[in-house]
Amino acid sequence: MVATVAIVGRPNVGKSTLFNRLVGKRLALVDDRPGVTRDRREGRAKLGDLTFTVVDTAGLEESDADSLTGRMRAQTEEAVKAADLVLFMIDARAGVTPLDQHFSQFLRGFSTPVTLVANKAEGRAGDAGLYDAFSLGHGEPVALSAEHGEGLADLFDALDEAF
Ligand code: GDP
Ligand code: MG
Repeated sequence: MVATVAIVGRPNVGKSTLFNRLVGKRLALVDDRPGVTRDRREGRAKLGDLTFTVVDTAGLEESDADSLTGRMRAQTEEAVKAADLVLFMIDARAGVTPLDQHFSQFLRGFSTPVTLVANKAEGRAGDAGLYDAFSLGHGEPVALSAEHGEGLADLFDALDEAF
């Protein structure tokens, strides 16, 4: 059986950027507009000697309860249930936001194990956010820069341990 890893988190934290980096093809749509990934996307990921299925998700918007948001929520829920591991991504530069806290609670409702990933942590700009991330109670965050390809060795270690 091939392990499945779902990347979840609020819009704009860098989920699709990580997905693209892991899959190595431009399968997911990356956009500056929050929540632009409407569909669940799956790809075959390689990281070191690990191969797994990775699922990109759109992210939940709590604020409006329109039908699209409902579909996005259902899609995230489905992805979490089907996954062997969830990468819960936050933006280390932004720190922990109320929406991240909402996500954190949401993820506690499932039995799928969660690894916390603090993205946009290149340079030192993410240091405060990293410290903040501990407060979510999902253990030590993996500091990452999906865009610059930093922290992938730590992500490898976290996944290797989990599989
Ligand atoms: P998603 O909505 O969570 O899928 O986020 P995207 O992958 O679409 O990225 C949202 C924005 O964050 C884009 O402008 C990316 O270029 C940017 N971004 C993604 N990863 C990083 C990173 O590691 N560092 C910085 N500084 N920006 C990033
Ligand atoms: Mg996306």
